[in-house]
Amino acid sequence: MSYPGGGLRNQLAHVGAEAVRAGLVVGSGGNLSARAPGSDRCWITAAGSWLDRLGPTEFSLIGISRNQLEDGHPHPSSEWRLHTETYRRRPDVNAIVHLHPQVSVLLTALGHDIALMTTDHAYYLREIVTVAFDPPGTLDLAIAAADAVANGANALILRHHGCSVLADSVELAHKRAVNLEEAARATYAALLLSQGRPAQIPAVPAQFLDAVRRDEAQV
Ligand SMILES: [Zn+2]
Repeated sequence: MSYPGGGLRNQLAHVGAEAVRAGLVVGSGGNLSARAPGSDRCWITAAGSWLDRLGPTEFSLIGISRNQLEDGHPHPSSEWRLHTETYRRRPDVNAIVHLHPQVSVLLTALGHDIALMTTDHAYYLREIVTVAFDPPGTLDLAIAAADAVANGANALILRHHGCSVLADSVELAHKRAVNLEEAARATYAALLLSQGRPAQIPAVPAQFLDAVRRDEAQV
């Protein structure tokens, strides 16, 4: 099946339903956004909306450059700055998936890196960066997150909180978010099997990862 059409809100509703179904977030946690390519406005899930029940009226429209809420729309998620700060810093990004994936957050809280163990992990994630804790919804966290991805990273862990995954399309951001938690689950299993010795976690061969980062590899 091809990815759903019907506009950006319809695609984000698909991400929300699938993310809850896959256990990447619980009910009303997390928030999703998409910018119409080349525009200064983004759709973002409304405050209190349940990600597995998103209708077209449960999105707010925000002007990115001036943080301006468009009239007639519901109040946006309290974490809206996490999205607008990143869109401003990364003109190449058109979709942001912010979820609270349990294993990714657990490993990072315990000080473990998430290994890029498979070709899919390497291809979709390439690099995983983290930011120190700041309270959710604050401008400090939004700026720290934007700083962390300014170099082009597309997978970010917010310590003790969740992830922010970026892409030029909703579909690719969705794939990256799924692969991030999948990589964390694989790392978790590897830690159990190696009795917690991180040096024993096998990452994909460095040569392949280098090729991915040069856009010279496929999966
Ligand atoms: Zn959050």
